[in-house]
Amino acid sequence: MVNNIFFKITGSLIQAYIYCPRKAWLMSRQIVGDQYNEFLAIGRLISGETYKRDKREILIEGGKIDVVRVKGNEFILIETKKTSKFIETSKKQLIFYLIQMEKNGFKVKGEIRIPKEKKVIPVKLSDSDRSDMEKIKKELSELLASSNPPVKKWSRKCRNCSYLELCWG
Ligand code: SF4
Repeated sequence: MVNNIFFKITGSLIQAYIYCPRKAWLMSRQIVGDQYNEFLAIGRLISGETYKRDKREILIEGGKIDVVRVKGNEFILIETKKTSKFIETSKKQLIFYLIQMEKNGFKVKGEIRIPKEKKVIPVKLSDSDRSDMEKIKKELSELLASSNPPVKKWSRKCRNCSYLELCWG
């Protein structure tokens, strides 16, 4: 069944959708996962501590960025992550933010930093990123319009998911 409620697409919903469509649906209904999930807690600690000195968390339409640096006329959006596991989800979220800023006239690029692995992954927008994101947003809007969540499917991602208890407890 489809309902008429409008759900604003945010960076967090994009990330959740790439991780698991069911997660995005649950999140859109304000159903809160396990906040004490160890994986998430460590992630929060890393993003809160690692770049403490130059942390400039900013809010943009649909989400927030860990750190923003300005070099000349270019903005660099930096996200910090605990691990490169499931990095595709973080990359898509960052691409969403970059596109939002680009639409507002900013020159932007991104970086994903994984301090524990001493990795910096540059993220630059391409035409295929832009068209992929339009496709993802359309699919996500259709999913969120459904009155029921997608059927749960076990995957290795479930172990690190804040909805583990809710789905499988
Ligand atoms: S626990 Fe698994 S099925 Fe449930 S939302 Fe998370 S990833 Fe999806």
